[in-house]
Amino acid sequence: MTATPQRPSLDSVTTINEDGSRRFIHAARASGRFARWRTLLAVVLTAIYVALPWIQINGNPALFLDVAHRQFHYFGLTFVSQDIWLVFFVMSGVGFCLFFLTALLGRVWCGWACPQTIFLDVARRIERWCEGDATERRKLDASAWTFSKTVRRTAKHALYLLYSLILAHVLLSYFVSLPRLYAMMRHSPGENFASFAFVFLIAGALWFDLAWFREQFCIVLCPYGRLQSALIDSDSLGVGYDTKRGEPRGRKGTTTGDCVDCLRCVQVCPTGIDIRQGHQLECIGCTACIDACDSVMAKLDRKPGLIRYDSRNGFEGKRTRWVRPRTMLYIGLAVLGAIALTLETRSLKPATVSLTRVTGIPYVVEGGVVRNQFLVRVLNKRNAPITFQLEIADGPQTLHWSGFEGGITVAPLGEEIRTVVLTLPRADLKKEIPLRFRVLSSDGTSIEKTATFLGPIIP
Ligand code: SF4
Ligand code: SF4
Repeated sequence: MTATPQRPSLDSVTTINEDGSRRFIHAARASGRFARWRTLLAVVLTAIYVALPWIQINGNPALFLDVAHRQFHYFGLTFVSQDIWLVFFVMSGVGFCLFFLTALLGRVWCGWACPQTIFLDVARRIERWCEGDATERRKLDASAWTFSKTVRRTAKHALYLLYSLILAHVLLSYFVSLPRLYAMMRHSPGENFASFAFVFLIAGALWFDLAWFREQFCIVLCPYGRLQSALIDSDSLGVGYDTKRGEPRGRKGTTTGDCVDCLRCVQVCPTGIDIRQGHQLECIGCTACIDACDSVMAKLDRKPGLIRYDSRNGFEGKRTRWVRPRTMLYIGLAVLGAIALTLETRSLKPATVSLTRVTGIPYVVEGGVVRNQFLVRVLNKRNAPITFQLEIADGPQTLHWSGFEGGITVAPLGEEIRTVVLTLPRADLKKEIPLRFRVLSSDGTSIEKTATFLGPIIP
């Protein structure tokens, strides 16, 4: 290992040495206006992530994925497994919004809001705190194992693990309620083995990511990272280097370009690239190189923005077009999806009703009467009790039914199953009779199910 950073090249991946081994990138700390805004946003997003399970709306956490009971609570709305098709609108809506943002602002999600970026920023703070700045860390990597190195490394990995465990427990609280999580934490792991295994695996994966995998996730694994080159064009914003202004580069006094080749932009880059070599897939748009270069320009009394947010057209001195067919298409599809989701969510019934014929023989003939039996299952999707009544439409006058008299009251998010028995004099059964079961809820909603009355047909 070497204590001096290598110059990035476009011919190799920055995180791999020539012999194929892992090369750790020790990015220097960048400070400036973008670093401050990114830190602020990271604090806000982390606070939202931690707080959502604590915020109660209609008696449930704001976001609660109760997989055990197949109920999903989202800001006061409750969905059950039968509503899973709505996920299509949610996922496609999120996808098209991300496409739109990328077409417009490049990898703004990666650099500002992606959990991987935010978690790694915290890990880098821990690393700086335990092992010093980038130069010290490179020296530590190259040095032999001493007591001091062992203590620093152990402290760093212990803090990574603690951070991973906290994140994993917060994630678990989205799937079990907070009181349940607290109760589980006070019992032995064996009593809640599935949850323990979940936390153990998530924390282990996070620790591996923070301690070793790191920026490789963005460079080689993340599918969105791979996709973004297909989403951006010459008008998409991105972090880039103004070649016209910077070149020819060189030390002050020997060049007419503004770049003094100080390599500060390379030293702060968390993916180890040199942005002056042009737009690259490895650039996550973290803006560290903008802050670094702006501070160099300030010291040289030159105007900032040698590295800046701009489009490829902008860097070439052309106008950046914000309204383009692809941005209109992506935002149009996202808006369409949002409208469809809103309409579908508003029309969701407060209950789910299913109707099945009792298994076994389809009908019974006894004492001149034909009998059919159905199971009516009513699932209350609201957080309050609802009373349901049953009507059977379209049957002949002589059709009688029992099993749902006076209605049933179903507890909040509860389920009731009733056996409904229908009888008809055999002489009245001239053909199979189509039936309409109508379940009416106390809040005025009507849900219909169809069935057929079967029996021996007397022509
Ligand atoms: S920080 Fe700015 S001046 Fe220094 S090498 Fe990078 S682009 Fe050039
Ligand atoms: S090139 Fe600049 S914006 Fe891109 S990852 Fe490196 S430091 Fe961040």
